[in-house]
Amino acid sequence: MGLPLIVNVVELLRWPGTTKDILATVEVSDFEFEDARVADVPISINLHLESLSNGVAVSGAATAHWQGECRRCLAPLTQMMIVDLSELYQAVPEDPDAYEIVNDQINLLPMVRENVLVAIPLGPLCREDCPGFCPQCGADLSEGACGCDTSIKDPRWSALEGLKGNLPD
Ligand SMILES: [Zn+2]
Ligand SMILES: [Zn+2]
Repeated sequence: MGLPLIVNVVELLRWPGTTKDILATVEVSDFEFEDARVADVPISINLHLESLSNGVAVSGAATAHWQGECRRCLAPLTQMMIVDLSELYQAVPEDPDAYEIVNDQINLLPMVRENVLVAIPLGPLCREDCPGFCPQCGADLSEGACGCDTSIKDPRWSALEGLKGNLPD
């Protein structure tokens, strides 16, 4: 229901310096991501709240999983990511990046949702040196060389070949 992510901060606001820790595991569906890149694995949240004179600082991390495909070989990928969180909540937001404290409550859910979405890598790779597909025959080069001679033809490439000798490998 997302309830562990709605925190009453009356006590925190009363005494600057007061802290509170939040540990929760929340179903992905509670976030309503509407984004297929978020894998359906519960998101765990470990947050530290601290009351300041101008609001409540929230810091910690969310552990979530994203899914997608390698941009070179299109292999399906699912990976864990740890998203660092550091945000400010204010009753009357002065900071343009601050989230609002409504009825003495802070709702951590939209904050976690936004940070998780931003953290998903664009154009992921299954591994750093994924060779992808052969540009000539389309073979998956991670399963072995296809035997195509790729050293030729396109004049744009031969220009690069000329350069190559002068560059450190
Ligand atoms: Zn790949
Ligand atoms: Zn080939």
